[in-house]
Amino acid sequence: MFERVLQIGEKNSSRLVAATDFIGSIIMNFMKFVLYFCLFICLTWGCKSSPEITTTKLKFLVVGDWGRNGTQNQQEIANQMNTTAINENVDFIISTGDNFYETGVKSTQDSQWKTSFEDIYIGNALQKEWFVVLGNHDYQGNPQAQIDYSKTSNRWKMPSRYYTFTKTIDSASAVRFVFIDTSPFVNEYLQNPNGFSDLAQQDTKKQLYWIDSVLTNSTEKWKIVIGHHPIYSAGFGHGNQEELINQMKPILEKNKVQMYLCGHSHSSQYINRNDTITDFVVAGAGSSTIEFIAPSSSVDFGTATPSFSLVSLSKDNLTTSFIDMFGKTLFTESWSF
Ligand SMILES: [Zn+2]
Repeated sequence: MFERVLQIGEKNSSRLVAATDFIGSIIMNFMKFVLYFCLFICLTWGCKSSPEITTTKLKFLVVGDWGRNGTQNQQEIANQMNTTAINENVDFIISTGDNFYETGVKSTQDSQWKTSFEDIYIGNALQKEWFVVLGNHDYQGNPQAQIDYSKTSNRWKMPSRYYTFTKTIDSASAVRFVFIDTSPFVNEYLQNPNGFSDLAQQDTKKQLYWIDSVLTNSTEKWKIVIGHHPIYSAGFGHGNQEELINQMKPILEKNKVQMYLCGHSHSSQYINRNDTITDFVVAGAGSSTIEFIAPSSSVDFGTATPSFSLVSLSKDNLTTSFIDMFGKTLFTESWSF
């Protein structure tokens, strides 16, 4: 009996040893596999990526003249903005005004908030901050409602009619953004005060003083100013704005502003003049585009194709592109500073 038990025990013991060897072999093979796999990952990815020099960039989209309940290419442009925002990993969006046609919004409850903004720019990559200025069509409604909407929206940002902030590019460089309210400068609207809400009550001298003081005290390497009306534009019907050439341009030049972004002209334009450091970018093709661009030696690019801008900033480079509703890059200009 004992012997039998012993024999059985020996058999069991030898089966146990065999099973242990088998499991050990699986574990060893698995560990070898993990080792080789890690080696493979390191050689194919890790070793390739380590020598790359990554440059920190700030990226944003610029769109203007858009709020038309999704019609006249607004929805198609919105869809492509989302695709570009995903591909380029943009940080935020800027609107250059005329946010709601034809006569702005009446209140924060106006149906156009939904039909021209919330239900149109629905892509996930567009659920970011939208920094906005007022256009002349916005003044035909209730401009204060667009400021007030900032208090209830997670993405709509217009704390006042003109405002400023900085964004960090990397540990050594930053950009100063100055958003301004250009409609009260335009004589045509001032002559028709009943059609433009409280436009005539706006103090343009006070605003000019504020813009100059902000820029004068700015220590950031890059300075970008955003308004609705162009200073220079080659678009017929919405051309150069003499009031801004006389009053705004000297302030931009004095403070060495690198770029002025605007809309109003229903087109996309890049204007690089020899007589000033500032480049003028018109991003006003967010929906209806009807303008013909006049040939001019200072216009590097102009189109009435519905489009928007992608701006990319690094510590020493500023690149601006125009992209159409199909994702085609129509033009790119880049300069180092
Ligand atoms: Zn306008």
